Amino acid sequence: MKAAFDAFRSLGHPATRGRGEILRILAESVIPLSPREIRERIPDPKPDASTVYRNLTLMVSLGLVRSVALHERSRRYETATDGTHRHSVVCRRCGRIESFQPKKCDLSRIESDIRGTLGFDVTDHSLEFFGSCADCEGKRGRR
Ligand SMILES: [Zn+2]
Ligand SMILES: [Zn+2]
Repeated sequence: MKAAFDAFRSLGHPATRGRGEILRILAESVIPLSPREIRERIPDPKPDASTVYRNLTLMVSLGLVRSVALHERSRRYETATDGTHRHSVVCRRCGRIESFQPKKCDLSRIESDIRGTLGFDVTDHSLEFFGSCADCEGKRGRR
């Protein structure tokens, strides 16, 4: 978390309490959170919703936070600073979101396709998978 505060300062933005809380909450969550969920977890006195939004937008532009578009209308956010690489899995039936850390995520073939087609140098990606969760499938505990 200290690294995140240093990142703010080095980029010329004060590391306010609200910003620190948002980063802490996102770092502690295993799934991407909506701005409303983030605000609910900030201890009182809570910043207003527009402040949370503005800070999230700023943190995305600083590369501290990544925004994820899942199937719902609301945008969710996850930390981009903890060095972990996670993918989201969304249940189409109940809306539950889980995340997993792939053992190996090799998209180099797709990335070189993108480079060849668009001349675009890919540095990161965000993947969401959709389907039915174990509960909805009635296969709880199956491995
Ligand atoms: Zn489900
Ligand atoms: Zn990946």
